[in-house]
Formats: sequence, structure tokens, C-alpha cells
Amino acid sequence: MVYGSTDRRATALAQLQAAEEGDPFRILIGTILSHRTRDENTTRATENLFSKYKTPEELAKADPIAVSRLIRPAGFYRMKAKNIIRVSKQLVSEFGGEVPESEEELLTLHSVGRKTANCVLVYAFNKPAIPVDTHVHRISNRLGLVKTKTPEETEAGLVKTVPRRYWLELNDLFVRFGQTTCKPIGPKCSSCTIAPSCEYYKAVVAPRTKDS
Ligand code: SF4
Repeated sequence: MVYGSTDRRATALAQLQAAEEGDPFRILIGTILSHRTRDENTTRATENLFSKYKTPEELAKADPIAVSRLIRPAGFYRMKAKNIIRVSKQLVSEFGGEVPESEEELLTLHSVGRKTANCVLVYAFNKPAIPVDTHVHRISNRLGLVKTKTPEETEAGLVKTVPRRYWLELNDLFVRFGQTTCKPIGPKCSSCTIAPSCEYYKAVVAPRTKDS
């Protein structure tokens, strides 16, 4: 089981949703920028970028060095600059400058994997999907909803076990819960209201409490 690392690689989806509501392009690009970085760095990089380039057409024509300077806070900025320019070119040439609304089409975009595609479906288009980031993966395993090693396996397991009516809210709920209570290191199990239903609590925390 992978419990996630301390770098809090969450996608800051709730923040993105609030800031970029109604703009699928910003949500798509913001999610790509969020890979392997902290929430606050993603926000800074996205704001910098969109202060200069607001549309796929503008970003498709941008100079990679200028873009990489703007998104530097997000880390891996040279690679990410290339990726988002390439995605923008694809949007212009293949999708009329619009972000596509289907998972199949989103997955054809350069550097877009299942997590990013599902984020766009949920947060840009309000379509049920389960984006699995480090919080969703860790918490689902701790609770015992799944027993998996990779986010892809977690998504496949959750899709089978979680009723579709909860999919839209699951990512946001777990990200918040993971940032405040079920943290990667030092989860606050003693004050967690769902501890009685949690497999990790029953298997690891409760026996320790009995012994002490
Ligand atoms: S009991 Fe602990 S491990 Fe289980 S969900 Fe709560 S905080 Fe997470």
C-alpha cells in the first residue's frame, strides 16, 4: 500500500474549481501544472501564466522560455512549458480551440493521463468521474475501500464500489480530509469520527492503544 509522500502533491482541485470555474482550459492547464508540486505553487504558476496567456490560441504561439519563466513556481517548468504549449496546439488544431468533454478525447491530449482527464470532467464539465490523486489513493486504502498499489487500480476499484451519485464530490471531499485529518504522515486517528469504520485504525491504531 502506498500512503503518499510529504510533498502534498494534491491537485488543489477545490481551489482550482473556485478560481477557474467556468474555464475548462484553465482547469486543464492548472491540473497539468499541479503534477508533482504543492498546491500553493500550482496556484502561483497558474496565476502567472494566465496573466499573460488566456486562451489555447495565445499559449500555442508562446515562446517556451517565456512560459517556463512564468510557471517556474510549479517545478519541472521546462518540461511543463513544453507540455502545455503542445496541448494548446492540439486544442487549436484538433478541437477548434476548445477543451473536449469526453474522456476518450481528453486522453488523446499530450501529457494528459487518467487523473487529469477525470479532473477536467469533474471540475470543468460537472461529469461524474473519480480523479485519483495521492489523497484519494491513500485514504481509500486506509479505509479499506480498496486494496491497491497504484492510483489506476484505486480508480478501477472505486468505480466498482462507490455509487455513481457520489463521484462528483469524492475527490474534493478526500482532498480536504487528507489535508486536515487523514494526513500522509501522522493521521489524526484519535479525533477521527470515522475511525470505527477504518481498516487502518482497526488493524494498526486500535491494537497500539490497547497495549499502551
Ligand atoms: S482513523 Fe486515521 S487512518 Fe482512518 S480515516 Fe481516520 S484519520 Fe484516516
